[in-house]
Amino acid sequence: MENRKVRVRFAPSPTGPLHIGGVRTALYNYLLAKKMGGDFILRIEDTDQNRYIEAAEEHILDALEWCGMKIDEGPKTGGPYGPYRQSERKESYREFADQLIKSGHAYYAFDTSEELTEMRERLTAAKVAAPQYNAVTRETMKNSLTLSEDEVKKRIDEGEPYVIRIKIPRKEEVRFHDAIRGWVVVHTSQMDDKVLFKSDGMPTYHLANIVDDYKMKITHVIRGEEWLPSAPLHVLLYRYLGWEDVMPILAHLPLILKPDGNGKLSKRDGDRLGFPVFPLNWMDPKSGEQSHGYKERGYFPEAFVNMLAMLGWNPGTPQEIFTFDELVQAFSLERVGKSGSKFDPEKAKWYNQQYLRTRDDAELAEIFSKSLVEKEINVDFEYIKAVCSLIKEKTQFTNEFWDFGNYFFQKPSSYDEKVVSKRWNESAERFFPVLANALESLNNWKADELEGTFKSTAEDLEINPGQVMQLFRVLLSGQAGGPVLFEMTELLGKEEVISRLREGVEKLK
Ligand code: GLU
Repeated sequence: MENRKVRVRFAPSPTGPLHIGGVRTALYNYLLAKKMGGDFILRIEDTDQNRYIEAAEEHILDALEWCGMKIDEGPKTGGPYGPYRQSERKESYREFADQLIKSGHAYYAFDTSEELTEMRERLTAAKVAAPQYNAVTRETMKNSLTLSEDEVKKRIDEGEPYVIRIKIPRKEEVRFHDAIRGWVVVHTSQMDDKVLFKSDGMPTYHLANIVDDYKMKITHVIRGEEWLPSAPLHVLLYRYLGWEDVMPILAHLPLILKPDGNGKLSKRDGDRLGFPVFPLNWMDPKSGEQSHGYKERGYFPEAFVNMLAMLGWNPGTPQEIFTFDELVQAFSLERVGKSGSKFDPEKAKWYNQQYLRTRDDAELAEIFSKSLVEKEINVDFEYIKAVCSLIKEKTQFTNEFWDFGNYFFQKPSSYDEKVVSKRWNESAERFFPVLANALESLNNWKADELEGTFKSTAEDLEINPGQVMQLFRVLLSGQAGGPVLFEMTELLGKEEVISRLREGVEKLK
């Protein structure tokens, strides 16, 4: 086992869009694989044809690509262990179901759905808490354990529909080690005879999953906690198929919880609290309902990935910002927590803000100039760059730039009312015309000179600069807050500042 190349798989069922929990599962798989110099495989688990949604597979691929997870083997990429879509591997499963029947670990069952319902009702009436097809009840049902060999053969020859079920032993303990949870022990009396092969000729998830993990030489199965109850069954399948020595290491990830910690994070929480739960926009093909994605909300993929990585894993140090490479280096399953992590929408924004701040001004200006062009604003690229450099400190998303900093490109259309009603008075009316004149004769239009002139003008008029500072900002920008005041003044330029001041005084007096 030690010498095997690490191979992990992300195995989504294309029944809908990828939820951020799914992206995190993919990410932890990816990080582990890359850290160990291994392969990241995408396997599409589409054995449930009734729930298949075509657009979902594309959505999954796009989401992984946006996050920067490169698929080493998968349906589009190909690879030596393909095909990577279970529906295209249909033929490879039956022989293993047959092998299990031969070795006495599985059996045919002919029960109709009415008979199964009848069995459940009978057990419920007898006060059995969880009625199941299991070591006890199978004795009363129509299967190859209760029917004669001839009868079974006859039914099969006549084309009667049947399923193949695993024969769970009656009194055994199944033990396995989970890389996150430690030792897990389950008694077989708690397990049921799950269907491995369906009457439509398709394997169920359980059989297909085990066969594919074996054939694809998977070394680590990292998946959501909801699969933990299935793990004992999988362990038995590995044993009965004789593959125990190559059984992958199992790791079941804890849930991502609602912001208040009560239960699993769902799409409804996102709708209710106004944050996306999908990486990319998604339109439900049936209802036409649109859901937002992190990408379209304006998140940088690096920020999204960093935020997700920290949702359940911790590096053991206070460091919070990690590049993708740093995550790869730092990641280990040992540092994934056992309990669920609360999703914090504010923290997600905070991550984006951290990445926004470190972005190159030119790169941000490139993004911002697109929305300026749409507004038919044509200004020098260097000016846009300088604006970005000032406002990136104060914003969380590039799509907030216009709302936050439109006054760099047009005169304010109104003034913050609170500041005006609190601060505009006789001294202000005296101060600003004098300031405008003083600034007009200033030769060196630089932030510290501007600040000096502002203060000395106030002192000359015996006005406390603090009383007129915020008004100054409002006259220039209309807004009560913003970037560093005198740097903003410098960037707006002499002519514009003086004209805004004079216009403002006219309007307010
Ligand atoms: N197809 C399963 C899912 O949708 C995969 C579970 C596993 O990784 O074994 O989550």
